Amino acid sequence: MSAMKRVQARLNLDGKTVMKTNKKQKQSEEYEKIFKHELDVATHAAKMLEDNTLKKDEWKSEYEALLKEYKALLRQAMKMTKIGDGTQQKLLKTQEELALANEKLERQAVTDALTGLYNRRYLDAKLADAFETAKRDHQPLAVSINDIDFFKKINDRFSHQTGDDVLRIVAKLLRESVRNGTTVARYGGEEFVMVFPNTDLHTAVAECEKVRKAIESYDWKTVHLDLAVTISMGVCADLSHANSEKFLSAADEKLYEAKHNGRNQVRF
Ligand code: GH3
Ligand code: MG
Ligand code: MG
Repeated sequence: MSAMKRVQARLNLDGKTVMKTNKKQKQSEEYEKIFKHELDVATHAAKMLEDNTLKKDEWKSEYEALLKEYKALLRQAMKMTKIGDGTQQKLLKTQEELALANEKLERQAVTDALTGLYNRRYLDAKLADAFETAKRDHQPLAVSINDIDFFKKINDRFSHQTGDDVLRIVAKLLRESVRNGTTVARYGGEEFVMVFPNTDLHTAVAECEKVRKAIESYDWKTVHLDLAVTISMGVCADLSHANSEKFLSAADEKLYEAKHNGRNQVRF
């Protein structure tokens, strides 16, 4: 056994042992404890070297050099562990922030900024998917398209700001009036679309009637003393249409009927 090996064996300081220990311990505190302990052992061994018994040993100088190197390595390892953990924490934090930013971006991409409802992009995809699924599974599906009555007059008579307030309140009333699972989207200017999964025509019409009444009976005087707001709605639940666009167009035709029949009503 070489002198160096003997020293290593004596102190149990060979690289493998240290490496193994490192692998097992994941937390930096544990790393530090281990390294400190190893350093203590090495320091103690150095003190023992001062003892006369070992003074004239043939491998003393080699042993001393090894110890010096080992201590330096330990210090470096301690430092590296600290740096490593700090960097790791920073990386984890950055990753978390990136994930949150991504989520936010994804949400923004499908959300209408003014009302907080889903936007048209989302609605188109959602409706297409719901339409295919309903057809495949032989489940009912209904869609409604809803348009605020004489909205241009609201803007003209009051203000664009008041118009925006009306849009936000209508959006809130839509969301609050329908059952969970209903997709509510702002389709364009003052138009909204709702998708009712697993819902037959009769039930969807009842849901729309609830929404229509909620809008009509809302206390619009809180926005402006002379303000009144109503909405017209067209509903379709006929899945024999070729695709979701035609399905929605059929609802739009019903909306057109509602407009021409005096507004503030649900047609189907
Ligand atoms: P109808 O009863 O036939 O639906 O009449 P309308 O006045 O509601 O319909 P029209 O399509 O003539 O007018 C819609 C108006 O909505 C025109 C546009 O300036 C306004 N509008 C569209 N987007 C917004 C918006 O984000 N904010 C506000 N304040 N107004 C908007
Ligand atoms: Mg319109
Ligand atoms: Mg309108």
